[in-house]
Amino acid sequence: MREAKGAETYPDRTVLMVSGGIDSMTVAYFLRDRCKYLRMIAFNYGQFDFGRALQAVNWVSVELYIPVTIVDTPRSVQAYAGFIEQDYDGFPLMLTELSRKSARFTMEAGVYAESIGYHAIAEGVNKDDLERYVYRTQVHRHVEEVMSLGNQFDFRVITPLIDMPKAEVMKLAHRLGVPLEKAWSCWDGKVRHCGVCQGCLSRKARFRDAGIEDKTVYLE
Ligand SMILES: [Zn+2]
Repeated sequence: MREAKGAETYPDRTVLMVSGGIDSMTVAYFLRDRCKYLRMIAFNYGQFDFGRALQAVNWVSVELYIPVTIVDTPRSVQAYAGFIEQDYDGFPLMLTELSRKSARFTMEAGVYAESIGYHAIAEGVNKDDLERYVYRTQVHRHVEEVMSLGNQFDFRVITPLIDMPKAEVMKLAHRLGVPLEKAWSCWDGKVRHCGVCQGCLSRKARFRDAGIEDKTVYLE
């Protein structure tokens, strides 16, 4: 199985952007022994499931001893119509390019990292994500460029999963011993995964496609 860029060296001081989902949790496990001082940052931009996602983020923080900073920007949803990537109750998704919409969080994570003396951020974007986040890698290169301006170092945006389709990420997670049932994928924000939203359907498919047992407790 292909390794997630294992031979690559990673900056000692890296801030990992986390959502509580499968990919960012996998990157946390992947980077914890590769970055000497790993931190995490999570954004509350008004997503319905933030409470549950935060629980998953906090769990990783405690389990792996990785400090986490939560940034509240709850009005983003109103300011950027359709940022939440779901067609809720038939309300149509605004088709502004998703890479552009999320670029500011990448930039904000970069600014945060610099402010605490860190020279890199990491993101759990995988190969399949690029079908929807078309300009993601270009955004990363631009953020690196902006964050390096006037500095004596080259700021880096690290994406260990970028060459891996979702099924491969699942296998890597399994091999790293990531307790995937702890990751949060549901868009509904209920006590347990609802089992029927797009987030849950995608989650179920990922376990199925990778041939890995899904220990998640779904409401239906
Ligand atoms: Zn769900």
